[in-house]
Amino acid sequence: MNGIDVFDGHNDSVQYISDYKPGGRDFLARSEAGHLDLPRAIEGRLVGGLFALYAHPERKPENNVTQTSDGYEVRYAEALDEGYARRLIDAQLDAMNRLIRRSDGRMRLATGVDEINAARAASALAVVLHMEGAEAIGPGLDYLHTLHAAGLRSLGPVWSRPNIFGYGVRFAYPRSPDTGPGLTDAGRDLVRTCNTLGIMIDLAHLNERGFWDVAALSTAPLVATHACAHAICPSTRNLTDRQLDAIRDTDGVIGFNLAVYDIRADAHLDADTPLDLVVRHIEYLVNRVGADRVALGSDFDGTVVPREIRDASGLPRLFEVMRKAGFDEPALKKFAFENWLRVFGLTWRS
Ligand SMILES: [Zn+2]
Repeated sequence: MNGIDVFDGHNDSVQYISDYKPGGRDFLARSEAGHLDLPRAIEGRLVGGLFALYAHPERKPENNVTQTSDGYEVRYAEALDEGYARRLIDAQLDAMNRLIRRSDGRMRLATGVDEINAARAASALAVVLHMEGAEAIGPGLDYLHTLHAAGLRSLGPVWSRPNIFGYGVRFAYPRSPDTGPGLTDAGRDLVRTCNTLGIMIDLAHLNERGFWDVAALSTAPLVATHACAHAICPSTRNLTDRQLDAIRDTDGVIGFNLAVYDIRADAHLDADTPLDLVVRHIEYLVNRVGADRVALGSDFDGTVVPREIRDASGLPRLFEVMRKAGFDEPALKKFAFENWLRVFGLTWRS
């Protein structure tokens, strides 16, 4: 299997990278745990990705999922303390920078399209910093500038919980993504400042009113780094046709998510999910937004992916199934790599 070079719009590997201790799971060593490390990236021809900084809750939620007659509802997560979130994000930034230094040139921090291309040419993995949930940023936005200077190029204003900027979408199925109020005034400031700095705004995890508030305000293409089609799987995390149309109309991009419960029409948490179902979403998205606006947002190390993919080393299998479904090489290259770079080029200022 030849494979194809891939840039991925979302992974959660920073969580374990920040816990690294010699002898433990190491991004530079091949592991069977989780989905992503450098050796498995190389096997799967993953050449770069958005790495998500993310502050997990202080206490792990318990019994927060309720099975309903036709699906599930997850109790809305609590807001985080800004100082707590910032300590975690600072530690994650340090850990990423230490990892990149330890990699001896096999990984590079990339803050521009040229740097991603240069890393690819040098066979180094391009790390683009993303943050999922802006709790670490106070209303003055000073820390946003600090993060931008540290390389941050993509920001989801909310994860699926409330913060001073807006309201993340609650996890539920089957249900509309219209689960709460829109952006706050601080949220509008955040969007404007991201536009000014050239930080991409990620609409994944934002509720529908927040989505439309960003759409009305932002001067950049609309982007959801990891989501699927609500028409196929009506979970709140997936995008409705109207939302997809807005992404198309701004020449944005949607990274299709490999989370099985957002792929399957029944939303079951079942890794035995055929890749044909992933392809169904891709076909649906391409019909709705065009082949120039669909890309990959795997959610590796943050979710349950189809067993046939297993981990990053299985990406060539996914693209092989897409090829067999009738997508030609130019389309596959767009989904795998080119569409992300096009949108970065339209959004970033460096
Ligand atoms: Zn996510």
